[in-house]
Amino acid sequence: MKSVSRSHKLDNVCYDIRGPIAVQARKMEDEGHRILKLNIGNPAPFGFDAPDDILRDVIHNLPTSQGYSDSAGIYAARVAVMQYYQQMNIKDIRVDDVFIGNGVSEMIMIAMQALLNTGDEVLLPSPDYPLWTAAVSLSSGTPVHYVCDEHADWFPDIDDIKSKLTPNTRAIVLINPNNPTGAVYSKALLEDIIELARQHSLIVFSDEIYDKILYDKAEHTCIASLSDEIFCVTLGGLSKNYRVAGFRAGWLVVSGNKRVAKDYIDGINMLCSMRMCANVPCQTAIQTALGGYQSINDLIAEGGRLKMQRDLATSMLNEIDGIHCVKPMGAMYCFARVDEKKFSIKNDEQMVLDLLSSEKILLVHGRAFNMRQGTYFRLVFLPHSDILGPALSRIQNFFKHYQQI
Ligand code: PLP
Repeated sequence: MKSVSRSHKLDNVCYDIRGPIAVQARKMEDEGHRILKLNIGNPAPFGFDAPDDILRDVIHNLPTSQGYSDSAGIYAARVAVMQYYQQMNIKDIRVDDVFIGNGVSEMIMIAMQALLNTGDEVLLPSPDYPLWTAAVSLSSGTPVHYVCDEHADWFPDIDDIKSKLTPNTRAIVLINPNNPTGAVYSKALLEDIIELARQHSLIVFSDEIYDKILYDKAEHTCIASLSDEIFCVTLGGLSKNYRVAGFRAGWLVVSGNKRVAKDYIDGINMLCSMRMCANVPCQTAIQTALGGYQSINDLIAEGGRLKMQRDLATSMLNEIDGIHCVKPMGAMYCFARVDEKKFSIKNDEQMVLDLLSSEKILLVHGRAFNMRQGTYFRLVFLPHSDILGPALSRIQNFFKHYQQI
């Protein structure tokens, strides 16, 4: 039999968050090492339990969740998501505008597969959550990265975006609050993006999965609430705000100028029906989650666990000579810059591997987030302070002596 190779569709597809370094970490675990995994934004293993009412609701609904649902999702979940965005001032949104998926991940794939033809360009942030770039490539599109500027709180650089527009640009993707940088975009910035989208007929995709994880009174604006004229696609889910990443419950919502997008929306419907439906028991969690007690607010408030861990991680990283981290205003990550000259860095992946073998701590290197310039790493600040603090001391110690050879 001939050797079996992957398809050429995968030639430009890359998703390194769970890539070779994570594989190396697993190998070390198999050899008996204990690895502290600060590479994935998965709250549950760090003791962030889901709100009780969500768990009870899923258990209660399990016996009646055995069949397929409507491929766009169960009615109660779609209504709950519709009302959620109505409260955020998206106008003219109906149940039919809501599609429930197996996490935001599935809806990103469906959204790109339904839209793109060969040669279509999509503007994506750099750094980005790399599934977006991977989904564009897999869908025969061309990812074009715009700069998010570290010296401007990691906000998108509007001039850079303008310089990258071509007649083939179909859409712009925003991640707000941002993974990996933790930036939360101002209304003024979002209005500039809307204006660009209007002038150049762009679709706006906004990944808002962290919309409730905000620090220091940061305010999140849902970009789709700022215009009825632009066709917007907003994505959200339960994985982070409600700490149930394993439930795989997310959604996609279309809004604004839906008339121009009827054919595309039909395409989304078709792809949703081809995969039957999202996991039904966990769809039942959506209404309870969105309508119930928002315990995430306790975690991000002054004195709340997530906020304290954010402060600890940011300050201990910034204590390291040669490392700088802009304070994240949302989400659950620190994205830190490493002075390449000071540490003679030639390869950010090697730096993360060196940290792994010396300190048994797993991070993700900057290039995994399509960050082409500079040396960066992302650290997940989910562990309790009594684990996070000592881990950061080990990272501090590592960089005290580190020189890449
Ligand atoms: N979008 C962003 C920005 C993320 O950070 C993640 C997960 O880390 C996802 C989407 C995927 O979320 P889900 O668990 O809903 O598939």
